[in-house]
Amino acid sequence: MTAPDIIVTAPLPPFLYDPLKAAYRCHDYFQASDKPGLLAAEGGRVRGLVQGGGSVTPTDLLDRLPALEIISVFGVGYDGVPVDYCRRRGIRVGHTPDVLTDDVADVAVGLVLMTGRGFAKADRFVRAGEWERRGPELTTKLGGKTAGILGLGRIGKAIAERLAAMKMSIAYTGRQAQPGVPYRFVPDLKALASLSDFLIVACPGGAATRHLVNADVLAALGKKGTIVNIARGSIIDEAALVRALETGTVKAAGLDVFENEPKVPEALRSMDNVVLLPHVGSGTNETRKAMGDLCLANLAAHFAGEPLPALIPELR
Ligand code: NAP
Repeated sequence: MTAPDIIVTAPLPPFLYDPLKAAYRCHDYFQASDKPGLLAAEGGRVRGLVQGGGSVTPTDLLDRLPALEIISVFGVGYDGVPVDYCRRRGIRVGHTPDVLTDDVADVAVGLVLMTGRGFAKADRFVRAGEWERRGPELTTKLGGKTAGILGLGRIGKAIAERLAAMKMSIAYTGRQAQPGVPYRFVPDLKALASLSDFLIVACPGGAATRHLVNADVLAALGKKGTIVNIARGSIIDEAALVRALETGTVKAAGLDVFENEPKVPEALRSMDNVVLLPHVGSGTNETRKAMGDLCLANLAAHFAGEPLPALIPELR
C-alpha cells in the first residue's frame, strides 16, 4: 500500500517530523519556495494536513486539497482551523488536549508570581547592581487575593488548583456555570474583572472570543488588577491593553501570547510592570514530545479507519 500524502503547514520539531516522514509522503508547504507549484503538483493527492496550534489554515488552501480527509493539529487550540468548512466537507480535525494542561497552568502561575511578586523586575534589579545602592521594592502578597479565570476548562481548572494551593480565592466565568466545581461562577466578564486582583485568560481563541477582554473589561479590572494571558493573543484587545497600562488603568500584565506573534508592540516591551514570554505555555521537551505522539496517533488512527484519540468536540 502506498503511504498517504501529508502536507505540513508549520515548522515541526524532529521528534514529530521524522516519524511523520517515515510513515507518510510528506510535502513541506511551510518551507516550500514555490507554494502554488507544490499545490498544483501534489495538492490533488494530499489526504492529511499537519499544522501548529497557532497556525491558520485558510479555506482557499483547503479548496486546493480536494482529497483531504484529516487535519491533525500539533496543539490544543484549533482557532486557526475553519471548523464549519471542515464539517461541510467531512474533514476530521484532531488536536492534542490534556497532555499540555499542566505545563500551561505552570506558566500561568509563573506569570502571577512574576507580576505579583515582581520577580522579573527584581532579577533585573540584581543584575544591574542596583541592590548595592538601595533595597528592593515591596510587592504584593498573593494569598487572600482573588484570581478570576476566563474559561475554566482543562487548563483553567489546573490553574485554579494551583492558585487555590497558594491560598488565593478563585472565581470564574464561561458560557455557563459548571456543576460540581468548588469555585464561584460570575456570569458577566466585567463583573468578574471588578472583583479580581488577577484576571487570567484561559478560554479558546477564534471569532467567538475575539477582543472579549476590551477597554471596558480592563477598566473594571482597574488599578488593583493584573491581566494574565496564556490562551490566545486575539482574546485581548492589545491596543486597549497598551493604553490601559500606559494610563495606569490596570496595574500590570503577564503575557505568554500576543495578537501578532512573534511581533510584540514596542510599547509593551518598554514597560517595567509587564512580563513577556514568547508563547512557551507547552514548551517543555516532555510535553512537546507527548503532543507530537498524539498528533501522530490521530493521523494513524484515521488512516487505520479507527476513531481519533482526540477529535475536536465540534465534530464528535
Ligand atoms: P478547554 O478545556 O476546551 O477549555 C476552554 C474553556 O473556555 C471551557 O471551560 C469553556 O467553558 C470556555 N469557553 C469556551 N468558549 C468560551 C467563550 N466564548 N466565552 C467564555 N468562555 C468560553 O481548553 P483548554 O485545553 O483548557 O485550552 C484552552 C486554550 O488555551 C486553548 O484553546 C488554547 O488556545 C490555549 N493554549 C495556549 C497554550 C500556550 O502555549 N500558551 C498552550 C495550550 C493551549 P464553557 O464551555 O463553559 O464556556
